[in-house]
Amino acid sequence: MCFDDFSFLILVTLMISKLPNVTTSIFSVMSKMASDFNAINLSQGFPNFESDPLLIELVNKAMKDGFNQYAPMPGDIGLRATICEKVRLLHDRLYDIDKEITITAGATQAIFTVLAALIKKDDEVIIFTPAYDCYEPTIKLFGGITRAVQLEAPFFKPNWEKVENLINSHTKLIIINTPHNPSGAVFSRADLLQLQKLTEKYNLLVLSDEVYEHIIFDDQIHYSVSKFRALSKRSFVVASFGKTFHNTGWKIGYCLAPKLLMNEFKKIHQYNVFSVNNPIQKALAIYLSTPKNYLSLSSFYQKKRDLFLELIKESKFKYHPTEGTYFQLLDFSSITDLSDLDFTEKLTKTHKLATIPTSVFNQNQSDNRQIRVCFAKTNDVLISAAKIINSI
Ligand code: PMP
Ligand code: GLN
Repeated sequence: MCFDDFSFLILVTLMISKLPNVTTSIFSVMSKMASDFNAINLSQGFPNFESDPLLIELVNKAMKDGFNQYAPMPGDIGLRATICEKVRLLHDRLYDIDKEITITAGATQAIFTVLAALIKKDDEVIIFTPAYDCYEPTIKLFGGITRAVQLEAPFFKPNWEKVENLINSHTKLIIINTPHNPSGAVFSRADLLQLQKLTEKYNLLVLSDEVYEHIIFDDQIHYSVSKFRALSKRSFVVASFGKTFHNTGWKIGYCLAPKLLMNEFKKIHQYNVFSVNNPIQKALAIYLSTPKNYLSLSSFYQKKRDLFLELIKESKFKYHPTEGTYFQLLDFSSITDLSDLDFTEKLTKTHKLATIPTSVFNQNQSDNRQIRVCFAKTNDVLISAAKIINSI
């Protein structure tokens, strides 16, 4: 590096960068490492199987039928109507099709837009750690401050007293994520009632990340914030079709919120992306109108979870069966003293199995000696991965 390069680096880091400490997302890092070392990739969360051929056919048809220009800014009206019906059916909450539903470029863009719309300098946001990686940098980008409540292993259940202790006059928003990535924990009805009580008492808003709403096991119920009247009046709900219909690369999701909040959301959305992929929205509008297409997902993934856990039951890893999502945490504390970062690197390079270290999701990167594996894979891949896990 010549001096000029070095001074430019210093200039960018110290004077220009809004996020000087942010590095490349762990999902990119581990997927690249998996590819570089020819390892089985159970790191980044995505299925290795295709969407229903019917859905692919519907997208092709929409393209052939000429739906290739801009969708309306809040999204295709047919898709918004189908989402409205789905939420009414599942949570008994009627969102206004025109004013309270927006189709987004995945949940990530919805989360970004909510935070862009709400967060001003020094606003405080409470999150639960381990936390999905996009919340904190986005809060920071808009001048906000993140306050974290740690969910403790092995069950990762929220402590509402700790939440209340963090609330002060700067607190604006609480972000929840149920079923929870990376732990798979599910918030109970009692948790949602506690959240409702606190948000009413302190007049707070909620961003509820529900991208795994249809992947929940052992007959548990997904308690959406939209099930709770008072809570839904102060909440944004964020969802993603990528998780539900096995097409994370399509990047289509949606956001629900009462109209005053959604109005603020749309002020940003219209300049951030304006509208998202039109033919896919047309196809989803039809596909989503058959409830079986999303209601069958939990049993589909529960079989994969159960197969995977049966295959690794004699391994040295410790675990509690995940309650939801397509992730399983594995505790490796009885195997090695390595940090989770070093262990995942070794697993990938030496054992040819890529996973995610969970310390990256904690404040101060605290290491619980747990790795996250994604079991949204065909059974042959799960069997090969289990052989490696059992050999460690
Ligand atoms: N929230 C959580 C908890 C996630 O796991 C993910 C990633 N899959 C997202 C949001 C982002 O979803 P999308 O791919 O639809 O942007
Ligand atoms: N949500 C996915 C996961 O948790 C990854 C999404 C991404 O790569 N940004 O693995």
